[in-house]
Amino acid sequence: MRIVLVGPPGAGKGTQAAYLAKNLSIPHISTGDLFRANISQGTPLGQKAQEYMRAGQLVPDEVTIGMARDRMAEPDAAGGFLLDGFPRNLSQAEALDGILRETGTELDAVLDLEVPEDEVVKRIAGRRMCRNDSTHIFHVEYSPPKAEGVCDACGGELYQREDDSEDTVRKRLEVYHSETEPIIDYYKAQELVVTISALGRVDEVTRRAMEALGRSA
Ligand code: AMP
Repeated sequence: MRIVLVGPPGAGKGTQAAYLAKNLSIPHISTGDLFRANISQGTPLGQKAQEYMRAGQLVPDEVTIGMARDRMAEPDAAGGFLLDGFPRNLSQAEALDGILRETGTELDAVLDLEVPEDEVVKRIAGRRMCRNDSTHIFHVEYSPPKAEGVCDACGGELYQREDDSEDTVRKRLEVYHSETEPIIDYYKAQELVVTISALGRVDEVTRRAMEALGRSA
């Protein structure tokens, strides 16, 4: 299956993407994770992306689209993939259509995770990520680790993402409404959108998502 996951920052895209990709046996491709990996490795691409991410802005398309295209061309993505955080504006959506056309493939679904804005702010303020694995995600209140600051899954150090600060979150939400939300209408016109509520327990949301995709969890 070829799936695009959309939703505001804090909707739980990263968490859900990890479970869905595993259930569907497809790679989870997150442009945010790819940028963060480039930043921690100090690559030129990471250096370019960092200032935009710090400001809560989108990294320019000429950087992002090439990176996403290269990742989708890797062998593990030949049979399908779950895109998390790409496309994030209309020109990226059009570029993705072009990439799919070139490979003679198409999207199966666009899964839209819906969550009220006040919930988004609460989720992001308390979010803590593991330095070893970006899919190990905790929340100081909703899903706290057993020991403060330590990942339950692997013992890695937990940290707060630099762009999860209140000001940057506000900017990211603004960017989501003005640049990313329009892609939902773009995909509605292609009858690809399935919308689910992202409220509730993580496993409940995963089950809802699998059902919406026509698969049982
Ligand atoms: P995420 O991990 O998906 O929340 O992304 C974190 C940040 O990475 C975003 O706020 C952007 O600065 C950047 N980013 C991730 N994906 C994209 C994309 N498709 N286009 C532009 N910037 C992106």
